[in-house]
Amino acid sequence: MPFRSDNGLTWWYDEALDALGVLHGVFTRQGGVSPAPWASLNTSITTGDAPENVRENLERAFRALGRDFATRYDTWLVHGTRVVLAPAPRTHRMPPLQADAIITHNPRVTLLMRFADCLPILVYEPKRRVLGLAHAGWRSTAQGIALRLVEALAQAYNARPRRMVAVLGPAIGPDHYEVGPEVEAAFQHHFGETAKTWFRPLGQRQALDLWAANAWQLHRAGVGQVRISGICTACDTTRWFSHRAEQGRTGRFPALAALPE
Ligand SMILES: [Zn+2]
Repeated sequence: MPFRSDNGLTWWYDEALDALGVLHGVFTRQGGVSPAPWASLNTSITTGDAPENVRENLERAFRALGRDFATRYDTWLVHGTRVVLAPAPRTHRMPPLQADAIITHNPRVTLLMRFADCLPILVYEPKRRVLGLAHAGWRSTAQGIALRLVEALAQAYNARPRRMVAVLGPAIGPDHYEVGPEVEAAFQHHFGETAKTWFRPLGQRQALDLWAANAWQLHRAGVGQVRISGICTACDTTRWFSHRAEQGRTGRFPALAALPE
């Protein structure tokens, strides 16, 4: 598994995106300053952690990738499918918009999102040099967030799906993501019988495969290359924050991404 470390922080990256020069990382929970249950690289103030810890952790993650914290563009994650454009970094005068996907054409912008089991989706189009990042839990996935992300890159920047490289990062895997019947019903409502292939038995109930559901959407949208990390956040809580495995008492690790300069 491709990981890098610096100053006590460790982050996962995708080798194909890395080879294309896309600066990115999905950080493990290690190397931050927050105490339990957020130990230690928690980057969300919504968890109850102290804002100064969150700020220090964010600055450490940005520094590890060689990016200035002032280049960030983040959103208020709401489990929907809205995609926003980030033409420039978000200033402190600009409150975060409610959205679960961000796209940019500007190499001075660092896309930032926070995760604990939801799936980070990165999409890069090397000819148009445009980048997108999405936060896909079951609600966003059922509503087609991966499809929306590809459409937004095509519409805003004339990017071609066939040239895109999409990466599905660490997330809760189908070995752990037990869901109720309402989840499968929501998927079938949007995707019909196809959705059945994204569920598998887990004990007496069903489990959802977020990677499979989003990979299907990306292929459907015509994306040329879809890469799946296969790393389950609930399998290893020494390495990842897992909302499910830790019953909600946990932090959020950051995913960062920026275009080649
Ligand atoms: Zn697992």
